[in-house]
Amino acid sequence: MNAGLYIHIPFCTKACHYCAFYFVTSGSQKLKFIDALLLEIEQRSIELSGYQIDTIYFGGGTPSLLSTQEFSVIFEKIYTFYQISPQAEITIESNPENLTSEYIQGLKTIGVNRLSIGVQSFFDDDLSSMNRAHRSSEAISAIQIATKIINNVSIDLMFGLPYSGMNSWKENLKVATSMGVQHISTYNLTVEEKTYLARKVKRKEVKVEPDDVLNEMYYFTLDYLASKEYVNYEISNFGKENYFSRHNLGYWMGTPYIGFGPSAHSYVAANRRSNKSNLNEYIKSVSSKSIYWEMEALSPSNQFNEYILTRLRHYQGVNSEELREVFGSELYSFFIDSANAYVVKNLLELKNGCYILTNNGKVLADLITSDLMID
Ligand code: SF4
Repeated sequence: MNAGLYIHIPFCTKACHYCAFYFVTSGSQKLKFIDALLLEIEQRSIELSGYQIDTIYFGGGTPSLLSTQEFSVIFEKIYTFYQISPQAEITIESNPENLTSEYIQGLKTIGVNRLSIGVQSFFDDDLSSMNRAHRSSEAISAIQIATKIINNVSIDLMFGLPYSGMNSWKENLKVATSMGVQHISTYNLTVEEKTYLARKVKRKEVKVEPDDVLNEMYYFTLDYLASKEYVNYEISNFGKENYFSRHNLGYWMGTPYIGFGPSAHSYVAANRRSNKSNLNEYIKSVSSKSIYWEMEALSPSNQFNEYILTRLRHYQGVNSEELREVFGSELYSFFIDSANAYVVKNLLELKNGCYILTNNGKVLADLITSDLMID
């Protein structure tokens, strides 16, 4: 059986104003963190014994703040303690300012075969208003270098940024699709609690776009990227054929995975584990073998809800026959009754027994999903 590995690298150069991921802006603990990470990787290998690792994903934070030498040491540990598929997809998230030709070549040499670049916007005004560490020219040059070396490059873009309207968004998509990347993730700016952006919005210093404008941008994205042959295989993700993110597909298809590092999540055998979001506690606890995580065994109803939540985001939707096999006739009937009501409203479509979000449904995905779940 296949499984995935996620490694959280919690370091960033600067704090982006909207960011709610776990990170620290000081690299002073980097070496101690790597030591702790190597220990965690070794200690937890038993959880995936018998599984073949098909995807490895370094997220953050900013993984590209690690040197290729540091990645090599981590890979060596992973390859020693886990059974890695020879065709494994190995992704590193990166920021444009770290990407030199030598660095990307070094990553490729040690086995990285997919690079995800946090571009967000090709406009300098957007980048400074979000406190990003790079400039547009660095993003362009990073993409040009990356696409020459690695044949699987993804970029992240954000829409709905303050003071950046529809025309800028169209231009961002135009530039992105002209650069030969195989994959594009698009996210609308959300105001997460406890972020600098949330404080600015509360003080009325920044106004975010209303839902109707965000929806218009999203509909445009769906049409425009489809016209450039990017398949919308998940609500926010678009890939050329054969370049969908296998790691993220694993999350949406219920493939087991282990997450290493502070704030990382794991999902194995209907158990969800969350490492605490605290670097110092992580470093101390891993070496003293004390508990730095929370565990939750998902109840059958939580497993059903999780199944709906993840499958519905995916372009092949919820397969009703599979749902009946896994969860039985009662939950099957509950699902079919609720889902058919959305088919009538053209928010879900039914194709070969699969319930799939229509474009109108994608905009209301959260609402529809929660309605299809059980209490
Ligand atoms: S670089 Fe990424 S993880 Fe770091 S603060 Fe910015 S958005 Fe958050």
